[in-house]
Amino acid sequence: MITVFRGGWVVTQNPGRDVFRGDVAVEDEKIIYSGPKYEGSADRDINAEGDVVMPGMVNTHTHVAMSVMKGSLDDLLFPDFLNASFKIDADRTDRDIDIGTKLGCMEMIRSGTTTFMDLYYSEDIIAKAAQQAGIRGVLCWCVLDEDKTTQSGNPLKNCARFCNLHKNTRKIVPGVGLQGVYVCNEDTCLGAKELSDREKLPMNFHLSETRGEVNEHRKSTGKRPGEWLAGLGVFGPRGVAAHSAWLTINEVRLMGQSGVSVSTCPASNMKLATGGVAPVPEFRSGGVNVSIGTDGNTTNNSLDMFSEMKILGLLQKASRWDATVAKAQELIDFATINGAKAVGMSDKIGSLEPGKYADIIVLDGKAPNMRPLLPENIIGNIAYSASGLNVKHTMCQGDLVMENAVIGTLDTDAVLAESEQVWRKLCLR
Ligand SMILES: [Zn+2]
Repeated sequence: MITVFRGGWVVTQNPGRDVFRGDVAVEDEKIIYSGPKYEGSADRDINAEGDVVMPGMVNTHTHVAMSVMKGSLDDLLFPDFLNASFKIDADRTDRDIDIGTKLGCMEMIRSGTTTFMDLYYSEDIIAKAAQQAGIRGVLCWCVLDEDKTTQSGNPLKNCARFCNLHKNTRKIVPGVGLQGVYVCNEDTCLGAKELSDREKLPMNFHLSETRGEVNEHRKSTGKRPGEWLAGLGVFGPRGVAAHSAWLTINEVRLMGQSGVSVSTCPASNMKLATGGVAPVPEFRSGGVNVSIGTDGNTTNNSLDMFSEMKILGLLQKASRWDATVAKAQELIDFATINGAKAVGMSDKIGSLEPGKYADIIVLDGKAPNMRPLLPENIIGNIAYSASGLNVKHTMCQGDLVMENAVIGTLDTDAVLAESEQVWRKLCLR
């Protein structure tokens, strides 16, 4: 089956960051052509005349199942937020997680995300729902100390079992999660890293989200979380450190040396008023791969990577008094090719190049917020003017999961209706 996206502005995100007017051809799961007019035959033509054709977004930190709790924990002080969040979480059933995941996947597909990295328990339920939605999930089962969890059994063993079961599941990449140093002792951290190394699994963890977390850890170990984890050997090229907002330059240096990636979550950090700003310019100069995460829908409250890209750019510029940091092209890199690298898939996704999976989104070139649209301003328009709602079509691994803004993989009306039932049950008390 050959599908051709015809006549669009193709934003390749290839090593030359080429942008041109032309076609992208897909055979089954993969891209076979990206260039001027495709001369071969096609089974399906998608008219992208004047539209923007670009790689699907890679969201490197979220808790997708929490989408169904949106708007229930707003405007709270951080300790109150945590308390309320844990209480709701403890009451969740498998069905709640299923509906939350489907709703979150619908939001991501609608706004052009084709891969998300998730950190949660019950990733087996999330895997099933994500597969039905047709989006790629890099699903990191949350590991923490056994005496600090509501999971039944040992979290590391649960994680290993999940990873083993989903090794060969299409569009699912199993991974290891670490909740954070505040609930993960040395043995837990080392066990998680050992599993990730042994099975070559991606690893997602919270790092230095709040100042309190850093101070507590210093009190108990004498070291900052980044220094402590680096000293244990937990950082490595398969790791993705979410938030990373309260770091010293020494911790940034250690992260750069280890090859760990960062998932910066600017909207979540600002909404919770945790104060820290991820040192993106220092990450760049220190050789740390920077990607973007939305975090969950209770702290953002959106999974729209276009909005997150812009918020990140604005936060970096405003906090540095320097409009030249976090440039438009860099922001798009963070959300696409760098995200692919973070989840260990830079040879498979993140750019429109032959041989890669067909993870392709099309943005409406007729939308007024995207015009004027010329080769010279297209990158700026994507970073600063676009909205997730400009996305018309979303393709993940060759499957057209959304066409003309209609998601074809799920019974979307049923998910929407059930989401309110679940919200009422969990959040009204
Ligand atoms: Zn998180």
